[in-house]
Amino acid sequence: MEITAEQQQELIRQAKDAYIKAYAPYSHYPVGAATLWSSGKIFAGCNVENASYGLTVCAERNSIFQAVSQGERRLKAVAIAVPAEHFPSPCGACRQVLREFAEDCLVILVNGQGKTRLTRLKTLLPDSFGPEFL
Ligand SMILES: [Zn+2]
Repeated sequence: MEITAEQQQELIRQAKDAYIKAYAPYSHYPVGAATLWSSGKIFAGCNVENASYGLTVCAERNSIFQAVSQGERRLKAVAIAVPAEHFPSPCGACRQVLREFAEDCLVILVNGQGKTRLTRLKTLLPDSFGPEFL
């Protein structure tokens, strides 16, 4: 399932908008994520940290959980944006949660200069475990 150039630009725009709302008083590392689903809808999320640290939730999972809560099940693409110079990279936990809703999908990484790097979930999480194993 590939996506259009317009969908890609909209994902990037929403991921960048999302990091502005990040709650990251501890890491000072705001992250925004936007996910595109088979319905065509996009859901955005930011990281939400917690004083206990361990209860922090990443932007990617916030976006995914919002979408799934609205009935979405088939993930088509994700954009992850940060204001930092280095490109973002989804953590291991988020890679596995992405994998729950897509065997593979486009992953768009956006840095603070607005540069984009395209990769695939299969590249980030090879030989993965998924729901079809159960
Ligand atoms: Zn994560």
